[in-house]
Amino acid sequence: MPSLDIRTLLIVFIIGNLLVGSLMLAAFRGRLTAVLKTWIASLFVQSLGWLLLGNCGGILPLLGFVTLSLSYGMMITALTLHFGISRRYGWPWWPVGIAVLFIICVPAEPWIRQVGGNLIAALQVLLAAAITLWQRGQRNLLRVLMGGSGLLGALVLLVRAADIYQVGATSCVVDGSSPEQGLTFLCFFIFRFTFMFGFILLIEGKQREAVTRLATLDSLTEAYNRRTFIDLAERELQRSLRNGRPMSVMVLDLDNFKQINDTHGHQAGDSVLQHVKQVADECLRSADIFARYGGEEFVVLLPDTTSQGAVVLAERLRLAIAENRASCGVPVTACIGVHSLDKVSKSVTLAELLAQADKAMYQAKAAGRNCVVVAD
Ligand code: GH3
Ligand code: MG
Ligand code: MG
Repeated sequence: MPSLDIRTLLIVFIIGNLLVGSLMLAAFRGRLTAVLKTWIASLFVQSLGWLLLGNCGGILPLLGFVTLSLSYGMMITALTLHFGISRRYGWPWWPVGIAVLFIICVPAEPWIRQVGGNLIAALQVLLAAAITLWQRGQRNLLRVLMGGSGLLGALVLLVRAADIYQVGATSCVVDGSSPEQGLTFLCFFIFRFTFMFGFILLIEGKQREAVTRLATLDSLTEAYNRRTFIDLAERELQRSLRNGRPMSVMVLDLDNFKQINDTHGHQAGDSVLQHVKQVADECLRSADIFARYGGEEFVVLLPDTTSQGAVVLAERLRLAIAENRASCGVPVTACIGVHSLDKVSKSVTLAELLAQADKAMYQAKAAGRNCVVVAD
């Protein structure tokens, strides 16, 4: 392994952090959240830390250790903000406090300070890796790579601390370009850059998820919206027609909902709609597609379900809605129209299926409400 020039690597660290921080400022301009601000600040502070650490002798390298520790504190804080982790008692800042106390209060040989600085940094990087790997939410390959690079970074810092403990401190960090020191910096480089770019991808992923939710779900009830229902139901219908499998649809309309709004207020009406979604979640199967079609009207697609099965489900849903008062205490009932494709012989459109179920729902209204009607 050829010796790497530590001074050059330090310059790459400094410029790399500054560049990525500036690019992030430009890219997220106008939508800088607390997470982003903290992360970007950590990149700039990190640059300053490396700049200070690159000096030889005097107070500057010591300030460099503290500044780097501060930047890791910010990095951990940004991660806790992103993953929604509590920062009780300000724990992400404890290692920074220890670093400050260590530098001020331990008037010791340079090697003790260097060992201490590396151990504190190792602890901070380990915390960042642990958060990325083990925090709740979907653990995808990106998080595994980030966490893995963090573990590598922490290991490298520990090895470096052990090295200094055994061999003694170099008079300054940029001294010596041994292959071992070069390898250490290279591994640390892998950790830094994986975290720098990985975090941007994590943030983008989270924002993309939020946009997808907005586009596919109804904002009040979090049931699928009409457009998503049509997309999913079209696919399900084509599958049924292709495989000759039965399928059913339901149209569900709340009874006298206008009266609920008029008597109890619009907010009570909103909680009734949310309550119906909860009841549907409890009654329906995971394969069933439940959506808010508009106003107080819902639709359900039941794959692989004959009209007999659909009526059983519709009755169960109707009873559950009528029996459970919404959390706001308002009684509510619903009419359900059911239409099924029991023997799939001809092509039929989703609109035709829904029109039949809708007709059946209006028959249920005419029959006195709070009932289920199956289309002829
Ligand atoms: P029917 O039994 O014949 O279905 O009568 P209805 O009162 O349920 O039907 P109508 O179509 O007369 O009234 C529907 C009401 O639903 C009118 C509208 O203001 C209300 N509504 C629609 N969307 C919302 C919503 O998001 N929140 C609330 N609170 N009310 C809504
Ligand atoms: Mg209604
Ligand atoms: Mg209606």
